[in-house]
Amino acid sequence: MPQSRRSFLRNSAGVAALAALGRYPFPTPPRKNCGIQIGPDCFVDEGAETVLDILQEKGAVDTLYLSTFTYDRGIIGRTPGKDYPGHGADASDKDYFHGGNYATPHARFYTGTAIKGERLKAPDFGDRDMLAEILPKAKGRGMKTICSIQDGFSYPPDMPFVEDMHETDLQGRKGSALCFFNPDVREFWNAVARDLCSSYDIDGVLLFNERNGPLLNAIGVSHAQAIDSAGVTCFCPHHERAARSHGIDFQRAKEGYRRLNLFVQQALKDQRPSDGYYVEFERLMLTWPEIMAYNQLFDIGKSQILKDIYTSVKAIRKDLQVGFHIEHTNSFNPLYRATRDYAQLAELADFLKVVVYNNCGGERYVNFIHNICQTVFRDVPPGELMKMNNHLLNYANEAPIETLATVGLSPDYVLRETQRAVAGVKGKCRILPGIDVNIPTGEHSRKASPDDTYQATLNALKGGADGVILSRKYSEMRLDNLAAAGRAFRETMR
Ligand SMILES: [Zn+2]
Repeated sequence: MPQSRRSFLRNSAGVAALAALGRYPFPTPPRKNCGIQIGPDCFVDEGAETVLDILQEKGAVDTLYLSTFTYDRGIIGRTPGKDYPGHGADASDKDYFHGGNYATPHARFYTGTAIKGERLKAPDFGDRDMLAEILPKAKGRGMKTICSIQDGFSYPPDMPFVEDMHETDLQGRKGSALCFFNPDVREFWNAVARDLCSSYDIDGVLLFNERNGPLLNAIGVSHAQAIDSAGVTCFCPHHERAARSHGIDFQRAKEGYRRLNLFVQQALKDQRPSDGYYVEFERLMLTWPEIMAYNQLFDIGKSQILKDIYTSVKAIRKDLQVGFHIEHTNSFNPLYRATRDYAQLAELADFLKVVVYNNCGGERYVNFIHNICQTVFRDVPPGELMKMNNHLLNYANEAPIETLATVGLSPDYVLRETQRAVAGVKGKCRILPGIDVNIPTGEHSRKASPDDTYQATLNALKGGADGVILSRKYSEMRLDNLAAAGRAFRETMR
C-alpha cells in the first residue's frame, strides 16, 4: 500500500529522533570512494599540495593508496623508456629508484623475524619519511590514506635477507621470491603491517601479491611471464613440513613437477605426445594428483599471510581497513579463477581491489591465450581457444584475437567483472575495482583515451562497486584521463 504523506512525515520524524539519539535503526550505507594508487615519488616530483589539489579537483579522489612498501615499479616510479604523462619529471627514475619501505621502519616490530626490516628503509629520498610527510596533508583535506604493501617477484641483491628465505626450486636453485612457509617470512610481512598501523594514524593497508601457483606457472598460463617450468615453486624444508601437515606426499609432488616440467619442455620443442597435448596433460594430473595438491598448498601459504596480517591489523584497531589486490590473471584465466573464491576471500578482507583493466586487458588476454597455446592447448588454434574461453568467462562480444590488443577489452568487460565480484562476496566485503588509467601497453596496443577511462569508471560503479581505485599509479596517468574518471565518479554520485 502506498505510504501517505502524513505517515511518511511521521516516520521520518521518528527516524530523525532516533538518529539524534544515536540509535538510527538502519546502518547508513557507506559512501562510495574514489581512490588512487600513487607512489611517494610523485609528491617529491610535483610537490605534495599541488598533487593533492590535482587529485581532488580533477579525479574527485578521496582516498590515497600510497605505495609504502614496494620494490616493484608496478605501483611506483617512472619506468625507463615508457611514455611520461606530461606532469612531474619528464624522465625515468633509473638513477635513483631502489624501493623498500618509504615510511620509517621501527626496529621493535622486527624482533620476531630474522629479516632485518628496520634496514629496509627505501633510500630513494634519503631520510625522508614519505608517509609522515603526506599523511597530515591528506588528513587536513579529509582524505583517507591506505598503505600499499607489496610482496614482489624479486628483491634487490643488497637486501638483508638470509639466504634460506628465498624459494628453492626443483633443481635446488635459489629463487628471488620469498618462501611463504618460512616462519621468518610470515612474521616479516606481519611486522611491516603492524609497524605501519601502529606507528601512523593511517586508515588501513592494501596488500599486493601477484604470484601465481606452481601449476599455472609451469604451464605458462599468465599474461606476462616466460615459461620456466623447472623454476616454479619452492621445495625447501619448510614446504616439506607444510606438505606433510596437509597430507601431501612431498616426494611425489616433487616427482610430479619433474614430469610436468618434462611435458612442458617437450611441448616447447614441438614434440607432440601420441595422444595429443591436452590428453597427456590430463593424464599427468590423474597420475600425479600431488601436482594439484601442491598448487593448492601454494594458495594456502599465500592466504595464511593475508590471514596473519588481517588478524594483527584488526587487533591494533578494528576500524583499520584491510584489502587485497586481486590480480589480472583472475579475470581471464579460468584455471586461476577456480583458485580464487570471492566468498572465501571476503572472509579475510574489508575490501577487494579487483583488477578490471580493460585497455591493457586486450593485450594481456591475447598473451595469456598464446602462452597456454604453447603447452596444454598446443593442438588448438589460439583464436578458437579464445572464443571458447570467452564463453567460459562470460565475455560477450569482445574483439577477436587478431585485433583484441589494438581494440582492448570493452567497458562491458568492466561491468561483468564487477558484477561477478559483487555477486561473489555476497555483501561480506566491499568491491573496489581497479580502473585502467594509462597502464602502458605495447607499441600497437590500445592506449587509454579519456572516454575509455570515463566508460570504465562508469561501468564499474554501474556494476554495483563500492567505489573505484584508479590504477596503477598516478605517475603514468595523463591528467585528461584522470579528469574523465573524476567526471564519471561525480556524475554517478549526484
Ligand atoms: Zn619453501
